[in-house]
Amino acid sequence: TARAFFQTAATLSPHLYEPHFNFASLADKMGDLQGSYIVVQKALKAYPEHMESQELLQQLKKYFDDGKFAWEMIGKLSLLRGLNRTIGTRICACGQRRNFSGEIEETFDLVVIGGGSGGLACAKQAASLGARACVLDYVAPSPAGTKWGLGGTCVNVGCIPKKLYHRAAILNEGFHEAPAYGFDVPGKVALDWPTLMGNILSHTKSLNWGHRVSLKDKKVRYYNAFGSFVTPDVIKMKSPKGEESFLKAKNVVIAVGGRPVYPDVEGAKENCITSDDVFTLKSPPRKSLIVGGSYVALETAGFLCGLGFDVTVMLRSIPLRGFDREIAKLIVQNMEARGVKFLRRCLPSGFRKDDGNVKVTWKDKDGASHSEAFKTVMLAVGRRPVTDALNLSNAGVEVNTENGKLVGHDGESTNVNGIYAIGDVLDGRQELTPVAAQAGRLLADRVFGKDPSAKMDYSAVPTTVFTPLEYGCVGMSEEEAFGKFGEDNIEVYHAFYKPLEFYLPQIDAKQCYLKIITGREKPGKVLGLHFLGPNAGEVVQGFGVAMKAGLTKAILDRSVGIHPTNAEELVKPLVTKRSGADPAVGAC
Ligand code: FAD
Ligand code: NDP
Repeated sequence: TARAFFQTAATLSPHLYEPHFNFASLADKMGDLQGSYIVVQKALKAYPEHMESQELLQQLKKYFDDGKFAWEMIGKLSLLRGLNRTIGTRICACGQRRNFSGEIEETFDLVVIGGGSGGLACAKQAASLGARACVLDYVAPSPAGTKWGLGGTCVNVGCIPKKLYHRAAILNEGFHEAPAYGFDVPGKVALDWPTLMGNILSHTKSLNWGHRVSLKDKKVRYYNAFGSFVTPDVIKMKSPKGEESFLKAKNVVIAVGGRPVYPDVEGAKENCITSDDVFTLKSPPRKSLIVGGSYVALETAGFLCGLGFDVTVMLRSIPLRGFDREIAKLIVQNMEARGVKFLRRCLPSGFRKDDGNVKVTWKDKDGASHSEAFKTVMLAVGRRPVTDALNLSNAGVEVNTENGKLVGHDGESTNVNGIYAIGDVLDGRQELTPVAAQAGRLLADRVFGKDPSAKMDYSAVPTTVFTPLEYGCVGMSEEEAFGKFGEDNIEVYHAFYKPLEFYLPQIDAKQCYLKIITGREKPGKVLGLHFLGPNAGEVVQGFGVAMKAGLTKAILDRSVGIHPTNAEELVKPLVTKRSGADPAVGAC
């Protein structure tokens, strides 16, 4: 009766839940778990902004601390996250004073949830410092049914297969260049997709196995199980068969990474694939549409085109948001020159199965509808950390409600003592394998005594976009530098260049370009370095190290190049944009 009354009251009169109203005592009077939950829920719905007030929090804390609330309540409260995640998390933290009384399988100094780039590095380093460490890794199959082994995104559905497909595409270009070097290449070099896919899959499987062996060697316990929090220091493991067991952890590292998101468009999950699936397609993708405009989209479009497929990219806004705009444009130009089609300012509105194809409908910027059939549609519209099922509320860990990432305090610490987050799951950090791995190793050094001051430096992290013409960069884009220091205080040096290897086969080098962004004051601290051309990753790695050591334009000017390379272009005299001089290709 009470429940029905308050439910009705909540609907009719939101004033019942004004901030000054002591709904905790109201709920208390009801003496009913379910009723209390409804009251709290309604209050949050009516006044989410007021729920941030300390006063209300104190009331809640008192209410939860008095121990009336059972475990079940905490679980239910996690639902509140849908309304107001931050407050829900804090309420749950107050409520979960209860100790776990189930059976603990084992106690570890470190439990790592997630066996990807960050988690594996952290656990191994911790074990090498004498900690009892374990890793829990579980891969939920993608909606298209793809699953994989230990090692996380990088090894299975990221960097490694991507780079190998990219390599295959470059090799295919090589066949076209070879006649210029005197090779008699048969008319058509055919790709056998199953062989390519199978060989790459064999390699990633060998890496899965390698990771298992190396965990064993380093004395890190590995569980193929899904981890979630019961309390801040008790982790529930669920095996693929559904068996549950519990571990006690002195420290927990959350390294669960992310998974591709699906747009809220009819047929997206049923008829499209993502980067989780593209590397292990049993038959060639043929005519493909890639939706999205960032790293994953452009890299995939690039290698599929390089392998000879008909590829279209659908952009809703700009390509490669966050990167140097001028270079992003050159990348798209280069891909277009290679045959990739771009649908600009378009949004998909439906994906339907149609006679073995996927019929895609979309709207352009003027609202006009279009449709076309593709054999394969890959969605690359971003990734989301897989934090929802971790029961973080049971541990009181703070989550950024907008993107589901964990909020880092002073590096990789969360708001809860002894619980840390590394890699793609950490808010505001680069989503890159070496970042996750380095942060993991340094965290282990810090927690397990090797170096209490060891800290990850997230600045000037070099990266490469493996598009057909690779783009390597470190530091700021031109726009970022202007925004931060003002245009008058920045010097931009730039040049177009022609790689030697482009001459004989007469490859168009229109987009081979580099740019160095420095402070204007002598000696010209290098703030950003950008290289668009062959092997950009290899070129930029060393310059990234130099930037960490305080690279200046004066040092670059004194440096001697290695001839003939593309990297030497970065130590040649370049023209400034300010001078207005032509940055065109110079002589050898
Ligand atoms: P992950 O590697 O994603 O590992 C997390 C692991 O935790 C996964 O195995 C996951 O299944 C598991 N897990 C999740 N939840 C649970 C749970 N509750 N219990 C147990 N296990 C769980 N980076 C680069 O530096 N260079 C590149 O060239 C590059 N290319 C990429 C290409 C693609 C297509 C993609 C998608 C990414 C690429 N990245 C690249 C990014 C890189 O892969 C990630 O930054 C990196 O893998 C992040 O590591 P992580 O440890 O944070 O998470
Ligand atoms: P990003 O979040 O970087 O990009 C998502 C893209 O999808 C953007 O172009 C975005 O457009 C677009 N988009 C978002 N929502 C929609 C929608 N509803 N409809 C159409 N388009 C949409 O994600 P990625 O998956 O490409 O990359 C994730 C991370 O993985 C990267 O940040 C990177 O750190 C890492 N990575 C690294 C690689 C490397 O090192 N070489 C390679 C691949 C990935 P908009 O700009 O308008 O928001």
